[in-house]
Amino acid sequence: MNLQLEILYLVASVLFVLGLRGLTSPVTARRGVILAELGMVAAVWGTLLHPDIVTYKWIIIAGAIGSVIGIAMSALIPMTKMPERIALSHAFGGLAAALVGVSHYYEHAGPVTFTGSLMAFGKLQGVVTSRNVTYPFQNATNIGMFGVMLTLWAALIVNVGVPQDLMFYSLFGLALVLGVLLILPIGGADMPVVIALLNSYAGLAASATGFVLSNKVLIIAGALDGASGFILSVVMSRAMNRSFRNVLFGAFGKVDADEAVAGTSTESGDVREASVGDAAMLLSSATSVIVVPGYGMAVAQAQHAVREMAEHLEKEGVKVRYAIHPVAGRMPGHMNVLLAEADVPYDQLFELDEINDDFPTTDVCLVVGANDVVNPAAKNSPGSPIYGMPVMNADKAGTCIVLKRSMRPGFAGIENELFTSENTVLVFGDAKDTLGKITETLG
Ligand code: NDP
Repeated sequence: MNLQLEILYLVASVLFVLGLRGLTSPVTARRGVILAELGMVAAVWGTLLHPDIVTYKWIIIAGAIGSVIGIAMSALIPMTKMPERIALSHAFGGLAAALVGVSHYYEHAGPVTFTGSLMAFGKLQGVVTSRNVTYPFQNATNIGMFGVMLTLWAALIVNVGVPQDLMFYSLFGLALVLGVLLILPIGGADMPVVIALLNSYAGLAASATGFVLSNKVLIIAGALDGASGFILSVVMSRAMNRSFRNVLFGAFGKVDADEAVAGTSTESGDVREASVGDAAMLLSSATSVIVVPGYGMAVAQAQHAVREMAEHLEKEGVKVRYAIHPVAGRMPGHMNVLLAEADVPYDQLFELDEINDDFPTTDVCLVVGANDVVNPAAKNSPGSPIYGMPVMNADKAGTCIVLKRSMRPGFAGIENELFTSENTVLVFGDAKDTLGKITETLG
């Protein structure tokens, strides 16, 4: 490898580490993303200087196709569909890793099949399906299949006389099937954790690809991705009060679906509907307000409208803070990203642990399109599928104003007793429209 390439890879690796460091706080997150992007430029630039490249023709063609798909994905897939988009990217990453494995198998035959099987494994982890399918001896089948794969892998290394191609493609095929079977029983409320874990697997596959290609920056970037994805999945399973074992082997999604059906059939109490005028009056006569944003804020793109309303209230001397639940929305950090885009000051954003004890001394909690993350069933109903998940104490505030369009449930598909509690009022309608009207009324 030439010196220029080595230096560019070193620069890229340092920028990736600094980028990740920047992503640990909303204040430095934007800088972190820019640093990581610069790192990627350095990595690609370095790779283009690789002495093994004999022609740029295929690189240009593949780059053009990749760019068209990437730009189309960014432009067409809305931010509310981020988990699906991330899963798709991991699938492409896994596929790329698997193809590198296959091509090296042909180039070098036996000796590199270990990494080839790891690549294939990475590819499988990108095959995402959230359907909740369970059947008898499911875990035993998966473990058995993994055992067969390990045996095939060992047999490939020591060469037991069975045709190598047959074993390699059996391993590849089994790896593909196992990826699907592992994800089948996981669904519903556990998907956020699984998506973070898939991210981790994709990183490990990239790292393994780096070993195959003797590409140091790929090894480092893949290891960073693998480790950060794993840490994220641990943090998220803690936020949802799920153990890793249960997420991966417990088929929680199945339980959720069944309970959701049961939940919707129960009698719901009366809800108190309020007008925009009522909401504006409640807000302007408060001394402190906590805004709890959720997935509905993202759907309505109401982040700017929230900030404008909050500025009005602050001018009237009301203290406004935002309570950010770790799994509000549909991806980690979803609410932070939206509120940062709307220039909401970072010092007004509080995590669950920092603000949850303040609800009882808060006059008004304004729930903007959140549902599961403010559902008291997580605290009070042991039979609920979300029981044990830490939730915002919105029910403890003096008055809770909920902005939503209908009585439809949230992601977990269950009823929310907050909506029928005595100190809650609902203002029906699109959150952005409602907030705009509240601000007009305040003004
Ligand atoms: P929920 O999905 O529980 O609820 C969203 C609410 O927004 C619904 O009640 C919906 O009611 C309302 N809504 C939708 N569109 C609008 C609109 N235009 N205007 C006003 N309201 C609207 O969201 P939460 O944020 O409370 O909870 C997130 C859920 O997603 C959790 O269960 C979490 O586990 C899960 N999840 C989280 C991920 C993450 O990483 N953050 C990833 C994947 C899943 P209505 O339709 O009546 O308007």
